[in-house]
Amino acid sequence: MRKRLLLAQANFFSAIYQYNDTSGQRMPWVTGLAPTETLDRYGITGGMVPWNALRSILYGGAPPGLVEFGCKVVGCAAPEDNRPAANTTGGGESAAGGGSDAGDGGGAYASAPAAAPREVLARAKFVIAADGFFSRVRRVAGDGSAPVFQRSVRWLANVPQADLVSGRIPAPAAIKLGTDPTALISSHVWLPASLENLTAQPTRGFLMYSAGTDEASGSEGGGGGARMIWTLFTRVETLEAAGEAYPMRAPAAGGDTVAAAAEGGTTALETVQLSNTTGPRAHERAVLMSAHLPPDVRAIIAATEPERVLEFGSHIHSPDSYVPGAWTDGRGLLLVGDAAHTGRADGQGANLALEDAAVLGALVRQHGLGPETFRVWEAARMQRARDILHDPTPEGSLRFPLIYSATFEPLWCPLKLAGPGGPLPAEVAAEVQAAVAGGGLDKGREVVLAWSRREVRRIVEARVAGRVWVESVAPPPGVVRMR
Ligand SMILES: Cc1cc2nc3c(=O)[nH]c(=O)nc-3n(C[C@H](O)[C@H](O)[C@H](O)COP(=O)(O)OP(=O)(O)OC[C@H]3O[C@@H](n4cnc5c(N)ncnc54)[C@H](O)[C@@H]3O)c2cc1C
Repeated sequence: MRKRLLLAQANFFSAIYQYNDTSGQRMPWVTGLAPTETLDRYGITGGMVPWNALRSILYGGAPPGLVEFGCKVVGCAAPEDNRPAANTTGGGESAAGGGSDAGDGGGAYASAPAAAPREVLARAKFVIAADGFFSRVRRVAGDGSAPVFQRSVRWLANVPQADLVSGRIPAPAAIKLGTDPTALISSHVWLPASLENLTAQPTRGFLMYSAGTDEASGSEGGGGGARMIWTLFTRVETLEAAGEAYPMRAPAAGGDTVAAAAEGGTTALETVQLSNTTGPRAHERAVLMSAHLPPDVRAIIAATEPERVLEFGSHIHSPDSYVPGAWTDGRGLLLVGDAAHTGRADGQGANLALEDAAVLGALVRQHGLGPETFRVWEAARMQRARDILHDPTPEGSLRFPLIYSATFEPLWCPLKLAGPGGPLPAEVAAEVQAAVAGGGLDKGREVVLAWSRREVRRIVEARVAGRVWVESVAPPPGVVRMR
């Protein structure tokens, strides 16, 4: 049921349009997207899922008590005697520590709820760190590396579609709101678009696309209808040339003592912490950085409510960091998701994080939990993550086949799904039970997978019913596929 609900909340774009970012002129090429055709071709199709829906489903699927909110890991250390945290009982333990961000390697694996600060020491045989792109666990207990600032600054904001339709927020003429039925379900990209400068990834851009649906807002109690997201990005140098410092806030006196790479006098940690800002100043700076855009595009940025605008710096783990041992210490520590491989915000980070978990689950089931499994997992994931996040080809010809060929060992048991209270309809559950009785669990899995494919198709078809299909027009050779 949960999976169906998630897919039912997905947005399927109709097309991707490009515009020149000073004249506003629409480029003659367009990427038409037909999710049902993609389903026919690959068995899967891409969809944009609201962040909160994904979170709710993941938390809802976890056993009660597994996720504890309001706690912060302030340190993490391997046991002092260097015993490997192996598949034996009583393995690793953490040393007590200070709870600072000093990164001296002596911190405990501790949590401190904000309301009543209190440190808790937890001893764990294994630590699987999924603490995101600036993973503290990686910095203090792993290889110590942090994602590298790309000298690119981004603003992310959302505007209700209702405001665009009513004219309260002016929509750019280029997206033809009144005449193009696909306008609000397409992705619109303003770039310095000409053959000359679209042969490399652009250093500035403005994107608008829909995210969330009426259905999604309703089911999550948001009640605000569908939204359009806009993203603006530019180089730090451009921001500085306009008289704005980066990061926006100055580091506090005394500064942070994290041993991270200095970047123009500011540590990487300071840069990331001080750059994530929402509100009027972030909005002001976005308006300033939109000066090159056509007036009707600038108008959306200017009319967006400042509280809906987030400014952040783009940080990634460079491809050079993908070396054996970077994601596991060969003992009890493993890094997954962004903690291991933060890439550019190009729509694959969350997918890869979910894949990480699925592959780890399958390997643990096969080999048990332990350092050897962690090593096997790292070897299995590293190449794929690098090829997808750092594909050097202009067309993405390395990454797209990998994305569309994703298959994973099912972690579920068909009999469990077919049991009382399971998600399968009664007739499918009966079919699964008969298949398992006649041919074993594999036969039961086949029945579940066949049903699942039918359900996916049914939901996708319902989501795109009545659409006007947009024909793709190929760009001239050499034009990069922006990501
Ligand atoms: C603005 C933006 C837009 C993006 N858009 C997309 C997109 O469209 N599609 C896509 O696939 N990806 C997108 N990404 C990337 C995607 O969000 C990440 O790749 C994905 O969330 C990684 O999942 P994760 O679980 O590894 O880390 P996260 O989702 O970052 O989760 C890490 C968790 O750890 C917690 N945490 C961190 N430090 C501590 C600590 N010390 N103690 C306790 N908890 C801690 C955090 O609070 C957080 O809940 C986007 C990223 C950004 C910044």
